[in-house]
Amino acid sequence: MSKLEALTSAQAEVVRQMTVCNACRYCEGLCAVFPAMELRRAFDGGDADYLANLCHNCGACYYDCQYAPPHEFAINVPVAMAALRDETYARNVWPAAFAGAFARHGLWVTFAAALSVAVFVAGFVAANDPGALFAPVGGEGGFYRMMPHWAMAGLFGAAFVYAIAAIGIGVRRFWRGTDAQAVGWAEIWQACRDAASLKYLDGGGMGCMNAGERPETDRRRLFHHATFYGFALCFAATGLATVFHEFGAQAPYPLWHPVVVLGALGGVGLVVGPLGLLAERAKRDAAIATHTGMGAAFLWMLCLSGLSGMLLLALRDTAAMGLLLALHLGLVFALFLSFPYGKFVHGFYRFAALARYAHERRTRKVEAVD
Ligand code: SF4
Ligand code: SF4
Repeated sequence: MSKLEALTSAQAEVVRQMTVCNACRYCEGLCAVFPAMELRRAFDGGDADYLANLCHNCGACYYDCQYAPPHEFAINVPVAMAALRDETYARNVWPAAFAGAFARHGLWVTFAAALSVAVFVAGFVAANDPGALFAPVGGEGGFYRMMPHWAMAGLFGAAFVYAIAAIGIGVRRFWRGTDAQAVGWAEIWQACRDAASLKYLDGGGMGCMNAGERPETDRRRLFHHATFYGFALCFAATGLATVFHEFGAQAPYPLWHPVVVLGALGGVGLVVGPLGLLAERAKRDAAIATHTGMGAAFLWMLCLSGLSGMLLLALRDTAAMGLLLALHLGLVFALFLSFPYGKFVHGFYRFAALARYAHERRTRKVEAVD
């Protein structure tokens, strides 16, 4: 069987469009996809997977394209790339039986969140008594009177390790499927910088063209940064809290404590960022809209996790603490379990594609897109 015969329909569409783009090359200054494309005379499925995950879905090439619909070539790179990206997640997922979870992500993540919150509420009641859920148990160690620290750390640590291991296996399959070579530390560092700044979401410098041909009205990059760095700050707060706990200082901590400051800043980012991204999604031009429900479900889970954490911080000395703690832990646990089977994986796939692009830039002397 030839490589072309082995293509999926999403790969075949990206290969078709990239073949037209490679003859045209009008968009070569917009992002990393076009310089990477120009290194190839023909495309196989692995090339298509790689280019699809290098695309940041800014939309700029659709508005610049003279071959976009209604032209008979029907070039719409953002839509073709987005469809193939979703397919790469499902094709490489571990375990393979969960491939369908991406298409039904909203449904199953809602079910997982509801079940998880219910289990935490039931667990708190079983471990204590029904009254404990509504009794003020603030002060140092208050959280751990509802659930012992060892149980909390063990459960969430195991869920997080499982999520990272599952994503790692999927990304490794993706990497091998694209015939990528080993990359060096300098290229990994370059990928870190490109990912941290969302360098290729700016449509070649004008900005992301989310809602139409006026990139200045878009705030996607800003809200994406708020989401990503909000998540990173919450993660840092959790890690720091573990260190303090080991040295005998038990949560909840006072408001000035670095754990609370990091967590509060992260919580604000996790509420504002996802809500902003949801609003930007609603404004997206229908011609390049690729909404599958997977992204929206992930954003709502992040937002609700951040919101429940902020509510817990505000009401931790009241009778609502027990119920809010169960709600927050239940949402975060479901979020962790959903990581390998939803939009969260896009960051890892895109990082791998950026590292490969940095490698190609260095070894094949591609000029950088500013
Ligand atoms: S998107 Fe359109 S204008 Fe841009 S390179 Fe491809 S064919 Fe040319
Ligand atoms: S990053 Fe933007 S300009 Fe580049 S291929 Fe994707 S949608 Fe087109």
